[in-house]
Amino acid sequence: MTILVTGGAGYIGSHIVNELVDRGESVVVLDNLSTGFGDTVPAMAQLVVGDIGDGALVEKLLSEHRVQAIVHLAASSVVPDSVANPLGYYSNNTAGSLVLLKAAVQAGVKYFVFSSTAAVYGNPQTPLVGEDLIPRPMSPYGASKLMTERMLQDAGLACSLKYVVLRYFNVAGADPKLRTGQSTRAATHLIKVAVQAALGARDSMAIFGTDYPTPDGTCIRDYIHVSDLVSAHVEALGYLRKGGASTLMNCGYGHGYSVRDVVDTVKRVSGLDFEVKMQPRRAGDPAAIVADVRNIRRILSWTPAHDDLETIVRHALSWEQKLLARTPRALSG
Ligand code: UDP
Repeated sequence: MTILVTGGAGYIGSHIVNELVDRGESVVVLDNLSTGFGDTVPAMAQLVVGDIGDGALVEKLLSEHRVQAIVHLAASSVVPDSVANPLGYYSNNTAGSLVLLKAAVQAGVKYFVFSSTAAVYGNPQTPLVGEDLIPRPMSPYGASKLMTERMLQDAGLACSLKYVVLRYFNVAGADPKLRTGQSTRAATHLIKVAVQAALGARDSMAIFGTDYPTPDGTCIRDYIHVSDLVSAHVEALGYLRKGGASTLMNCGYGHGYSVRDVVDTVKRVSGLDFEVKMQPRRAGDPAAIVADVRNIRRILSWTPAHDDLETIVRHALSWEQKLLARTPRALSG
């Protein structure tokens, strides 16, 4: 049974593809390489360079490879970018997913694992969010993902497609074997940015907002190691293959860290100091959001292996050092 991984040359996708290949799965990757890197796709997986919105290409790929399962990650995923370019996000994330989903249903694909996001919840009243909380996205990014969730739910009711929606919290770190990591050029995600600042790949970094209603005034997030997120996908696929019903679950650890906590941890783990500038709030950022993880632990019997901020930071640092050894400073964007 071939598994199609869309966005499989990207940060999270490349980790998933490596793991699936290690497990002996037949994998085909569809990625337009807008932010991904072809060389992160292992040789055992076939890379097709193209767009999820290209219906003819997707149909051909699904039938030629007799795809039975799709892990769908291809998307634009930067919250502030989505605020500046909402229609681009709806086009790429929502309209693109519609094309993919239509082709999947037509081709009789059985299983679909969808990469959604905690951004669907918006700015919750209490930080700990369960999947039953009514979603109120604050950004076009969150809304674009929520729309795709809805399409998937409706399609799943009307046909035999079974799905798992995984709402990712803040994914960070890198493959402990350093086969892949986050290579994004103009990185915006906190841990990557802080690690780059520590290693001198950027002159300084900013903390966006110090007046949030949190203990130290900075935003709180639930940071999950990318390898634990990968195991959630593997478990989700296994669950569907065993006949599991369509479902939706948060992917996080159930506890959060502030932006200051993260910056302090990067300084401590790296042993390096760097300049941190206090700046105003960034558009679209909720104050605090942490996953209620009872569902994923119960339904998938998922047990994280790297639930530790220092480990996440250490792996992110090692990956960044590897990148910088290849192209000093060029990767800071
Ligand atoms: N953040 C920051 N400086 C940065 C990048 C991010 O202060 O250079 C903050 C951001 O405002 C948010 C948190 O770190 O409060 C996590 O942001 P990130 O972009 O990593 O993930 P998001 O939660 O937006 O998906």
